[in-house]
Amino acid sequence: MMEKIIALAKRRGFIYPSSEIYGGIAGFWDYGPLGVEFKNNLKKIWWKHMVYERDDVVGLDASIIMNPIVWERSGHVSSFADLLVECKNCHHRFRADKIEKETCPNCGQKNNFTQPKKFNILTEVYLGVTEPKQKAYLRGEITQGVFVNFKNIVDSSRVKIPFGIAQIGKAFRNEITPGNFTFRSREFEQMELEFFIYPDDKEGDKWFSYWKEERFKWYVDLGIKEKNLRFRDHEHHERAHYARFATDIEYQAPFGWSEFEGIHHRGDWDLSRHNLTYKDPNTKEEFIPWVIETSGGVDRATLFFLIDAYYEEEERVVLRLDPRLAPVKVAVFPLLANKENLVEKAKKVYNLIKGEYLTAFDDRGNIGKRYFSQDEIGTPFCVTIDFQTLADETVTVRERDSKKQERVSIDRLKDYLNQKLLI
Ligand code: ATP
Repeated sequence: MMEKIIALAKRRGFIYPSSEIYGGIAGFWDYGPLGVEFKNNLKKIWWKHMVYERDDVVGLDASIIMNPIVWERSGHVSSFADLLVECKNCHHRFRADKIEKETCPNCGQKNNFTQPKKFNILTEVYLGVTEPKQKAYLRGEITQGVFVNFKNIVDSSRVKIPFGIAQIGKAFRNEITPGNFTFRSREFEQMELEFFIYPDDKEGDKWFSYWKEERFKWYVDLGIKEKNLRFRDHEHHERAHYARFATDIEYQAPFGWSEFEGIHHRGDWDLSRHNLTYKDPNTKEEFIPWVIETSGGVDRATLFFLIDAYYEEEERVVLRLDPRLAPVKVAVFPLLANKENLVEKAKKVYNLIKGEYLTAFDDRGNIGKRYFSQDEIGTPFCVTIDFQTLADETVTVRERDSKKQERVSIDRLKDYLNQKLLI
């Protein structure tokens, strides 16, 4: 299954290995013309849901490199580490918690690992021109940018607790064993909400449950099959250094149940580490708020949505993506490629539709092949211009999943499509 998804992603321009012409680089990926479209759709939908549709969340776009003190205070310099074991035979290193059955996944030797050692996964960078250069870090999570701006946001906007700060952006981790395609990358994008609440156990429980359900529902509403999702509470020993409780939303991937998004109760860990407080505008009381975090991965979501939407039918492969996520929304074809009047009319219809979203024009090969080519990338609608179009200004609109066709007049076409595409 993974081979098929990886091949489709490459062949159709969703995802390529980074710097592939030089042999690639482990844990880095590039998103092609369809991949970037997919990710942009996903991020737009998330932002709309988390920011525009709510009254209690504002946005932020913080820098990737911050003063390194941020990472000392946040505990990442001392604790953002995975336990690592090395195979004494082939010297490959693996995360101790991801090794099953004491067998080296690389060379197959049994029981020949070193004792686990801590390995910090922050990525270092060096800034400036004079030696010694200033050491800094590429952010290991986008979250810290929110905490260090907490006071700025409280002072410059009208937010009052409970409120949230949403952010989407790149994070970097020097993962020991990148793999499972984009699932574990070294550069990836996160979409996160930090939701600040009163420091109270009941409030904590309430908002933690609320965000768990909210985030689960979001994935289901966007088309992930519910049977492929589950919650998994973290055991005490696996919680990150900042977490009071943590639950993962997991997806049943071809390589096993895997973390999709983390819901974390971070308590007052971060704000207290940065010496930040909040003054209640009504009571004037000063305190350190607690925070509930929802932390999803854009790349993992892209991968899991592709896997979940992938179907092989007798004669075609189809991605049954939600129309809001589909990279190409509409494809326009002339019925026959060699009839100039059909091609000309099809181009006019294409020009009429295009502009608001990615629209494709295709006049290669036969019409059946063109349909299948669009099915494989999840295009929800194909519009065909045929001889009847020339007579009565109507076109056929074919829906991807049912393959049903409907005749629609050209003057209604744009509204018809927008309605179906939920735009
Ligand atoms: P894992 O246990 O898989 O390493 P994590 O618990 O360290 O993940 P978090 O720190 O909770 O992950 O990060 C929040 C989200 O960021 C994850 O749910 C995931 O979607 C995404 N993410 C984390 N690490 C990676 C990675 N290496 N590659 C791609 N996405 C990632």
